[in-house]
Amino acid sequence: MIILILVTLLEIIYFINMDNYSYYPHTIIEEDRNYLVTATYPKTNTKLDNDIEKFIIDEINRFKNNIINSKYLLERNELNIDYDYFYFNDRYISLVLKISNYNGKTKINNYSIVSCLYDKDKNVYLDILDLFYDLDKLFINIKKEFKDKENISIDSLDKTYIGLIDNKLVVYYISDNIYYINLGIDNNFKLNIVKSTKEEYEEIRNTANVLDPSKPTIAITFDDGPSRYTEDIINTLEKYNCNATFFVLGNKVSAYQELLKKSIKNGNEIGNHTYNHKWLSRLSKNEIIEQINRTQNILKDTVNYTPTLLRPSYGSVNDRIRKNTNLDIVLWTIDTKDWKIHNVDRIVELAIRNIEDGDIILMHDTYKRTDEALKKLIPILLDKGYQIVTVSELEEIKLIRSKL
Ligand code: ZN
Repeated sequence: MIILILVTLLEIIYFINMDNYSYYPHTIIEEDRNYLVTATYPKTNTKLDNDIEKFIIDEINRFKNNIINSKYLLERNELNIDYDYFYFNDRYISLVLKISNYNGKTKINNYSIVSCLYDKDKNVYLDILDLFYDLDKLFINIKKEFKDKENISIDSLDKTYIGLIDNKLVVYYISDNIYYINLGIDNNFKLNIVKSTKEEYEEIRNTANVLDPSKPTIAITFDDGPSRYTEDIINTLEKYNCNATFFVLGNKVSAYQELLKKSIKNGNEIGNHTYNHKWLSRLSKNEIIEQINRTQNILKDTVNYTPTLLRPSYGSVNDRIRKNTNLDIVLWTIDTKDWKIHNVDRIVELAIRNIEDGDIILMHDTYKRTDEALKKLIPILLDKGYQIVTVSELEEIKLIRSKL
């Protein structure tokens, strides 16, 4: 298959003032009969966000304008934008976005890379190559690394995109595919790079709920997070002494690790919702494994937690996915449609309308309305006599009941 490459370069100049470097990853997810869109990008609480957001929205609109109606779900076009690298220190912000645009009819995937480097002190976007004393030496190093690692000969830096991470560079090269290498930078680099220190892992103890198999039981699940609304959702659950299962995206884990630790400590369960929300059923075996394992690994490395549950993005499951994971695949029995419905009461109504013992409710901890709906939903469910537990606890209760 020929992979067409589309290259876009983000050229932005903005004057901004950044005192606070805190950021969080933000995700836009849209699904329609004819398309699937997932875009994840960092929000930095600065004017830089306007540029990134405008770029993302333009990409999504351009994608939608090019869509041709498809007859089958398998032919749906898919746009996936994810930040491959996002790095900042006290002076620079480096962002590399990877855009994959899948045409369902022709089965061709177009990739493109967008990168930018922002200098806080000078209030400008920089060409990363301007940061080197000796460009020739840099080029020789990059060339050698691509030859050694990927067996690719590159003849200029024109087709490269560079991101800055810790004490190294990541260099993307685009030819028939996207390749990248990591390059250590030390003396030949002009910048004073602050090396990030490895965090001490915190021992997290699960505070297990007392499960009552005789009570009607339901599980509430949240997909696509964490987000800025997750903390309030965790607090609401804590207030009512309930727990839920959060199916998280791997690319959001490290930014929210403190929140995840708190969530786990409170007794909530973390499930795997893939790394960046691609539609798994048409990925290759290796791509499926990568989507799942990258998320498992980052959760293990950052919060010392190993999920046992997988909820595939968009709820799409096939035999290839089942064959390539030993995680339990969990879908849902009640869809609150909170990703589409804006009315809080309507979301609550959809959750409780047909609810029965053993149900699994689908929500998304990425919307304020979901946060508000949960505050109404939990008291109603508790009033009806339900205990609200994680998916694994629900399974445990079903197992206990089957033995009674
Ligand atoms: Zn999802």
